[in-house]
Amino acid sequence: MKNSQGGADAADRNSNRHPKEEMDRLAGLLRRYQHEYYVLSAPSVSDEEYDRLFERLKYLESEYPEYARPDSPSQRVGSDLMHELPEVEHSIPVLSLDKAYTDEGVLSWMEKTAGAAGEPVTFLAEEKIDGVSIVLYYEDGVLQRAVTRGNGYVGNDVTPNVKTIGAVPLSLHKVSDLTVRGEIYLPKDRFQDINSRMPEPFANPRNLASGTLRRVRSVETARVPLTMFAYEGIFPDQEETHDRVLTRLEELGFRVNPRFRLFRIDPADPSASGSDWEEFKAFLKQENEERDSLTYEIDGLVIKVNELAPRERLGYTSHHPRWAVAYKFESPQGITRVRDIEVQIGRTGRATPVARVEPVSIGGSTITNVTLHNQEYISALELSIGDQVAVSRRGDVIPAVERVIEKDAGSPPVWKMPENCPSCGRKLQQKGAHHFCVNPDCPAIRFGRLRFFAAKGQMDIDNLGPETVNTLFEMGLVEDIADFYRADYSQLLGQEGFGPKKVELIKRGVEKSKQRSFRTVLTALGISDLGENVADLLISGGFSSMEGLLEAADRDDRDALSAIAGIGPKMAEGILSSLRDRRLREQISALAEAGISMSAEEDRRKAAGEASGGEESGQDLPRIFEGQTWCVTGSFESFTPREEAMEEVKKRGGRVVSSVTGKTTHLLAGSGAGSKLEKARSLGVSVVDEAEFLRLLGRGESENKAERQ
Ligand code: NAD
Repeated sequence: MKNSQGGADAADRNSNRHPKEEMDRLAGLLRRYQHEYYVLSAPSVSDEEYDRLFERLKYLESEYPEYARPDSPSQRVGSDLMHELPEVEHSIPVLSLDKAYTDEGVLSWMEKTAGAAGEPVTFLAEEKIDGVSIVLYYEDGVLQRAVTRGNGYVGNDVTPNVKTIGAVPLSLHKVSDLTVRGEIYLPKDRFQDINSRMPEPFANPRNLASGTLRRVRSVETARVPLTMFAYEGIFPDQEETHDRVLTRLEELGFRVNPRFRLFRIDPADPSASGSDWEEFKAFLKQENEERDSLTYEIDGLVIKVNELAPRERLGYTSHHPRWAVAYKFESPQGITRVRDIEVQIGRTGRATPVARVEPVSIGGSTITNVTLHNQEYISALELSIGDQVAVSRRGDVIPAVERVIEKDAGSPPVWKMPENCPSCGRKLQQKGAHHFCVNPDCPAIRFGRLRFFAAKGQMDIDNLGPETVNTLFEMGLVEDIADFYRADYSQLLGQEGFGPKKVELIKRGVEKSKQRSFRTVLTALGISDLGENVADLLISGGFSSMEGLLEAADRDDRDALSAIAGIGPKMAEGILSSLRDRRLREQISALAEAGISMSAEEDRRKAAGEASGGEESGQDLPRIFEGQTWCVTGSFESFTPREEAMEEVKKRGGRVVSSVTGKTTHLLAGSGAGSKLEKARSLGVSVVDEAEFLRLLGRGESENKAERQ
């Protein structure tokens, strides 16, 4: 466990700054990191680094209270409010947690808390689930609202999204009014699978869960098998202890994490007989050891006063309850040296500096490259080539430089982004925090686009991995995306690693990719902001053909696009202007000529053609259920017999099973669903009703009604 109180090295490195200047800088940085973490679900620093800066700010505020500002990040909860979603007021304070990083820190918190409680207390330790906080409000036994934490007082109403989560009971028996706090998360094994299909992968399950929960359209949420652990319940007939609350929540059908333990600790004399301090330390050690084998991410333990009456006396600060503390775990870290910093140009032209470090083993993997994001990030770290650095694996996945441990005396204090693009030599331009190469002919950008088009998540062309794309590009066989369908692949024969069999497989992969749906094609064009979600919004918002979109681009009809919920005017403008680009238009025409789908109607025609040809394989339907395991129960209006619904799942890449087990990801529940529904809820399986299922299939309300008439 690490040092608390801001770290001596930070103090040393900052000792030549005036405290007020450092406090302002820290507050600014922390606010930026909060926005990236809570709102964008894309943090650029690790939790450890965030916590280190936060502790440093708290330390400075205690040393120099005259400079402490009332709006400091230490005085309020980091806000995850999004203006696209409705805002509602919480009826309970929904705050953050106080933190401890050492055994001594926890013990001193226990001592302070026991002293202020006014009566003997016991402590209950629970796992701190690394997910997204949610508050569920039940009235008359029915889930009325599911609200994000927001700023602690006002949150976003995400009820339709939360209703797609199987672990959340929609109605309760035996109780009328109840408020439940819980943590929504994505199981680790589901994360790898789903993330690999995302156009912009998330760094860890928490970020993916957070992004998914706050989608504007609940169909998007339903596609990701989120689940929830409930950890607080506020009953009108208040219980006496927290462990009793947990039992009662479980009885009501909530998923409660069974890995909690109650301790009787005498903080003034922890080793006294009858004090469970050693047991507590053993529990902590065990949790740390078993953490990797759990099916969900945890980032520490939460230690809570178990008795509820003293909790009321202890109360809250503006930032956290005084009756609980988070004991945070550390991610694995290693020390290495930066050998070099290279700039990589991506398909959008964005220049990303990447540190080449001396190989270092962290948590079982050898790290040699670490992304440094942008100049601001490097300047905040005060990093340069030759520096000795601490590197961690965030969310145990993505390596990140945590801090500089020792500066290299011979290097300039901070590395600076080169003025020119390392690929084409043109001057880089700064937009916001990032630098870009804006030369459309830049080889790095062209290669990035080709790679993106062929990759999984887009056209997913079998046997066309980045190395093969690179060979094709270097040989001049494929220069733009349409060339994938015009290239003479036999010219690859004779190149190292390209025998007749491999070339044949490539040709087959290219041919097969012609079956991709219009939605996939739209995403694969690589237009900024136009990912899977926006493609869905456009198609269901009436732009179901390329022709319609190109016409809107010609008219510059931003209003028509931004009339679709979830598409703002800026996004509309960006998409339309990309669609006016002459080169992109030429490529679109060539793709259409090659037989690539340019409308949802064409998708349907192809599907019908396939069906009448004998087998309804659903090859060209979007594979929205790929990697998912569905069970179907109950009866349906639009699927009689219900095997029809099972077919729809299979045609879209899903697996169908006959019983609900831990491996089932979704239960399609029609009317009269019985024990399978109960079981799905207890296992945290996503439950989807018929209306939701029809929406997932792209058959909305009106079409459904029309079909029935
Ligand atoms: P927190 O770490 O203070 O923890 C509070 C949250 O823990 C609660 O809101 C709740 O949702 C959750 N929780 C999970 N299991 C729980 C349980 N059993 N009982 C009670 N609560 C439980 O979280 P926070 O206030 O959202 O944010 C602070 C933390 O978030 C930081 O310490 C840091 O780790 C991370 N953060 C990181 C960045 C970054 O840029 N990397 C930015 C902001 C915040």
